Amino acid sequence: MTDRLFPADWQRGPRYSGAYTFARCPATRDLSLADVAIIGVPMDMSVLYRSCARFGPRGIRDASGQLRPHHWEAERLEPPFDKLRVIDYGDIEVFPGYIEQSIEQVQSALAPIVDADVFPVVLGGDHSTTLPVLRAVAAKHGTLSLVHFDAHPDFWPGEPGRPYHHGTVFRRAVEENLIDPAASVQIGIRGSVSAGIIPAAREAGFHVITGEEFWRQGLRPTLEAVQRIASLPVYVSLDIDSVDPAFAPGTGTPEVAGLTSREIIELVRGLRGLPLVAFDVVEVAPAYDSSEITALLAANLVYEFLLVLSERSGSA
Ligand code: MN
Ligand code: MN
Repeated sequence: MTDRLFPADWQRGPRYSGAYTFARCPATRDLSLADVAIIGVPMDMSVLYRSCARFGPRGIRDASGQLRPHHWEAERLEPPFDKLRVIDYGDIEVFPGYIEQSIEQVQSALAPIVDADVFPVVLGGDHSTTLPVLRAVAAKHGTLSLVHFDAHPDFWPGEPGRPYHHGTVFRRAVEENLIDPAASVQIGIRGSVSAGIIPAAREAGFHVITGEEFWRQGLRPTLEAVQRIASLPVYVSLDIDSVDPAFAPGTGTPEVAGLTSREIIELVRGLRGLPLVAFDVVEVAPAYDSSEITALLAANLVYEFLLVLSERSGSA
């Protein structure tokens, strides 16, 4: 175990110093050193409203300097980094202005990571980031279950000849058989635009728990539904706008009356036991953030997810 790498020790150098990697994890592309790779995808060319999620990976990495190896709640003492070798793989090189090429680039960059059985944790980027990651992951694991936290179903058909924007991701994913909607859950959906597409998502087979339904039924029935329905290899996609703009203002298409930061943390913790194969956090747009609260929440959600991964048996 002496040759493996650990995050930098905060007692030997301040947490705001050195290279900006996620939680000060080692920056490397040597997959033989990793169980989990943190991967940035600085791509936001398909947003419908405010852009800036291209700076999401940088913002989340910056805010992650605040993370300590040990959890902030006393009963969770074992750091995820003790069990999991987590590397920061850096950012995928995308091509601003060229979404088709960028999507192909992200997929081809993800493939060797997935093929090496290294667990991908992706920092977006707008939600179009998810489609090429889904393609890469489904190429290895077959059709997936999606557990999707979002204010929006992202199930719009798009226009003929223009299939890609951040609101069409899961329509494309269903068409391409990357995900099975009958084995997938969408949580936190709300807002006037989303309302128009919720019936279509349900008709396609998605189990949709709207923001209001979550508020009425609470955490336990929601997590029971997730555990019951997500039976295939599970891709978790977390759009930060699932969270209320009071807790996560730094995003492109905020919708009021969303989840609290406490609720989204508990929802991520509730993913324990699922057959997880990939995770992304998307739509963090630092230019609209206030006091870094959105990026800090996103960094903590990644950390919570790493804890979930570290607690399951076997390697990642
Ligand atoms: Mn989304
Ligand atoms: Mn959204």
